[in-house]
Amino acid sequence: MKKIEVLGVTFDAGTKQEILARIADRLAAREGTFVVTANPEIVMKARRDPDFSALVKQAELVTADGIGVVQGAAMLGRPLPERVTGYDLLVDLLGLANEKHLRVFLIGAKPEVIAQTAAKVQATYPQLVLAGARDGYFDLTDTSVIEAVASARPDMVFAALGAPKQEQFLTQLRAQLPHALLMGVGGSFDVLAG
Ligand code: UDP
Repeated sequence: MKKIEVLGVTFDAGTKQEILARIADRLAAREGTFVVTANPEIVMKARRDPDFSALVKQAELVTADGIGVVQGAAMLGRPLPERVTGYDLLVDLLGLANEKHLRVFLIGAKPEVIAQTAAKVQATYPQLVLAGARDGYFDLTDTSVIEAVASARPDMVFAALGAPKQEQFLTQLRAQLPHALLMGVGGSFDVLAG
């Protein structure tokens, strides 16, 4: 898959289906994958903040989560095939987890939102194993949260903590879960909870 730089962020120029296929292959090969779905807020934050930019550079896959990013790339003559949003990837990956009976950990959003999200996910995808779910209101220095997620042995971790907290959390978690798919999903649990 081609890499395309737009505004200092290096994107993977794949369609949603190509990105999903890459993630599925990496999961099957037990290769850890950190995915950043870079919306305009994330792109601007990476431009302003070198520490955050360094976190984004650790991702194996960076997708363009915004029509502005796709349009910007086209204007620079380096086209990205389509917008690939965190929410759309989340829904498709939950489907994959359901199909393959994978273990999923959901972390983020307010307590009532994550409770609702967990119930919906379990009802909609009964074949996936919900390895754990917790809200996103904890301090990143509290290592017990990392330990709790790691000890649940998830294949996939979706973190809805907002940027940069979700990227900081997931890069901390990587060392403990070297084979997992780790993806920040912004406000997606609020959408899923309905
Ligand atoms: N959130 C969280 N912990 C925090 C801050 C935010 O779990 O410490 C959640 C918030 O409840 C929401 C999600 O992160 O579900 C996205 O938050 P926000 O809209 O602020 O971030 P954005 O989507 O703009 O990155």
